Amino acid sequence: MKKLLAIATFIGLTLSLSSQAITAPKEVIVGVYNNAPKIFLDKNGGLSGIEGELLNEIATREHWQLKSYPCEWQNCLAALKDKKIDLLPDVAITPERQKEFDFHRFPVLTSWSRIYAKNNGATKSWLDLGGQRIAAMTGSIQEGYLEEHLGDFGVRAVTVPTHSIEEGFAKVANGDADTVASNQLVGDTYAKVYGLQSTPIVFLPSKLFYATARGKNAELLRVIDRYLSDWQQNPQSVYFQTVQRWHPITNLSTVPKALWTFIGIVLAIIPIMIGWSLILKRKVTRKTRELQQSEAQLHTILDNVDAYIFIKDANYRYRYANQKMLSVFGCKLEDILGREDCDFFDIATAAHLRKEDIRVIEFGERIEVESPRNTTGRGLMQGMLFIKQPLKNAQGGTYGLCGIATNISRIKEAEQVASTLAYFHPLTQLPNRRKLLAELTQAIDSSPQRFKGGAVLLIDLDHFKKINDSKSHSAGDRLLMLVAERIRYSLPDEDQLFHPNSDEFVVVLNHLSQIEELAREHASLIAEKIQSAMRKPYEIDGKQYPCTASIGIALFCNATVSAEEILRRADIAMYRAKKSGRNRIRFFDKPLQQEVENRQALEQSLRAAVTHAQFVLHYQPQVNANRKITGFEVLLRWQREDGLLHTPSDFIRVAEETGIIIPLGHWIIRAACQTLASWQEDQATSQWHLAVNLSAHELREPSFVNYVSSIIEETGAPAHKLLLEITESQLIDNVDQIALKMAQLHQLGIRFSLDDFGTGYSSLSFLKRLPLDQLKIDKSFIRDIHARHDDLQIVSAILNMGHLMKLEVIAEGVETQAQWQLLISKGCQHFQGYLCGRPAPIEDYLEASCNNNSHVATAALKAI
Ligand code: C2E
Ligand code: CA
Ligand code: CA
Repeated sequence: MKKLLAIATFIGLTLSLSSQAITAPKEVIVGVYNNAPKIFLDKNGGLSGIEGELLNEIATREHWQLKSYPCEWQNCLAALKDKKIDLLPDVAITPERQKEFDFHRFPVLTSWSRIYAKNNGATKSWLDLGGQRIAAMTGSIQEGYLEEHLGDFGVRAVTVPTHSIEEGFAKVANGDADTVASNQLVGDTYAKVYGLQSTPIVFLPSKLFYATARGKNAELLRVIDRYLSDWQQNPQSVYFQTVQRWHPITNLSTVPKALWTFIGIVLAIIPIMIGWSLILKRKVTRKTRELQQSEAQLHTILDNVDAYIFIKDANYRYRYANQKMLSVFGCKLEDILGREDCDFFDIATAAHLRKEDIRVIEFGERIEVESPRNTTGRGLMQGMLFIKQPLKNAQGGTYGLCGIATNISRIKEAEQVASTLAYFHPLTQLPNRRKLLAELTQAIDSSPQRFKGGAVLLIDLDHFKKINDSKSHSAGDRLLMLVAERIRYSLPDEDQLFHPNSDEFVVVLNHLSQIEELAREHASLIAEKIQSAMRKPYEIDGKQYPCTASIGIALFCNATVSAEEILRRADIAMYRAKKSGRNRIRFFDKPLQQEVENRQALEQSLRAAVTHAQFVLHYQPQVNANRKITGFEVLLRWQREDGLLHTPSDFIRVAEETGIIIPLGHWIIRAACQTLASWQEDQATSQWHLAVNLSAHELREPSFVNYVSSIIEETGAPAHKLLLEITESQLIDNVDQIALKMAQLHQLGIRFSLDDFGTGYSSLSFLKRLPLDQLKIDKSFIRDIHARHDDLQIVSAILNMGHLMKLEVIAEGVETQAQWQLLISKGCQHFQGYLCGRPAPIEDYLEASCNNNSHVATAALKAI
């Protein structure tokens, strides 16, 4: 078996050798472009250079007949693609070329590319290529690399295309290009020729191969690989001899392996370094762009903000100013940089500004100051608020200041308006009550130091309400304006006029004598002057209106009283002037003061009396012509702690003026209703009515009707036994409203009596509007009924009128039998007075009624 195999192998070898021997030499067309020392044509047209000679060696051994096809690089590639040539030496592998060509596996040469430049040492890194013209051969891997990657380095450069590598070197030498990119092997050679120098910019480490058209001549490549593989393992081989001969300096294939590793690392690091520097540069570029953007944004904001903004350094020199601030300076930003305030302002202003700046920069203060300032020749900066703020570094040190000025003139205006509204009367524009209190306080406080006395004149227009209500309000306003004018003209300039309330004016005199008599005389003179100025009628809308004033005066000579107290005194004096008949002048003096104090004391006691239930009710009987009690008038008494019993004349007015009458009135009605309700149990008492006096204030209470009806309901009192007494004078104001309330209560059964009848001015028609049940003839007509004929006539007339109007008529104040008889003779049926019984606690009458079947038990009445 072994023999058989040996025979077969021998036959095979023999056949193979014999077939080679007989095959004609293979023609291989080789593209040659001039690229010494790697490949070029020798003068006989044969292949030369490293790659040429190695190919010659293989061709000799393989019996290939090499045919050279000279071409420029681009044409060489095109010819290979078109299969016009079989082999093209010196081709580096690129992804594009791999699509079009086939390559063997073991590279013929390993090389890299480099940038060459004129010998000035200026080109050291990729970044130095910015703006340069770089020559590179068209279609070369250097050209492709530069076009693709220069942008990545952030470098803008122009590539200058050349037909050959040499042309690139020539262009640099001639100044047509700045640098040239070339394979290092070739470049080193041309650099020497053209006097250029290799730069440290190395790129594109590449391996060079023989290439064939795609899918053609695979056999050629395989053979080449076989030779290269064998030769490159043997340093003595023809391969190394050839390389050594053509390029002794950079004989790459003979470089020791360690050096190769080093070069490899360097080559690997270079792109990393380039990449890193590229990243850094990009970062810097991005950051710079961002900074520029944000700076631009900041400028836009600062220039459009409605404020004057500037920055100064620690040496008080301007470092920034926005457009608004520049417009004040009237120059550009670059004109103010590094300059100081003394370059823009007058000496005094600059010194003033420096003082402020020192506080900010030296002491780190934030200051706020308001203009006006002198800014001579640089635009006005009035009505401004300046804020100066220290600028601090991370360590807290002040390195400058930022100033911001805003226009606050509108705010100031608004403040002015607000102050006008707050301190001046809107109609006359005279200072109002608030201002009066402030000024008066100051005048009083300063009077001792000034050794001056003073006075307040309170001028209240008489019957202003009537003019205002009967004419239009604008007529009222007009009148006030004219009055203000006249008062103003009758006053010395130094005396102040105020308008605290609608129809009230106040004059403060603060230059009077400290001697009271003199001050009084002086104040009196001025008050008279005012009154005489006002005396002439006022012409409004073509009509004449008279208007007088009541003036109350309070003096002040020391600082012991408050402004409020002085005004209160003037007010009391003014009321006294009104009370004395209006158009008068009254001083606040000691008797008046005493009166006021008494009144205050009474007011306090009254309030306490309500709280401590010190009021009692007395009852005065009302009888008919048969001397039979029909009911009682309820009369209020104040039983004080000291045992004194006060009648209403002592307190009722104060109770009314202070409003105490309201709770008091409620209590009286409730008590009366409770009594009426309790009387329902007894046959005798159930016939009696109770007459309760009402005050005008009670009637004006909006809840009066509700209150009375709820008490009636609550106590169960018979409404028709409740008689409410009102006086004519109470009906003067708001008669319609009172009539309505009376009607509502009348509906419930409550009856009404018109008290003190005859003393007022009631007309018949007026009386007809009211739901009245009784007229009560005032006691003043009864008292002298015998002596005064006219009184008798009035009483007769009232009795007749009552008869006609179907109203009951009662005579009050009947004290004597003679009066009784006379009244009886005139037809009077109802009586009240001491003759019938004095006001007394109800118990007195209840006992009497028990004993005498409801007839009045007083001795006097028995005697009738
Ligand atoms: P008035 O309503 O005219 O009451 C009658 C007044 O005449 C009572 O005085 C009464 O005591 C008094 N009088 C009664 N008979 C005679 C008499 O024969 N001769 C004289 N000279 N006087 C007589 P009084 O009690 O001092 O009341 C005074 C005024 O006080 C009342 O006048 C009334 O207007 C008011 N008043 C009394 N009580 C109340 C009350 O409860 N509420 C309200 N609002 N006012 C009351
Ligand atoms: Ca009465
Ligand atoms: Ca009366």
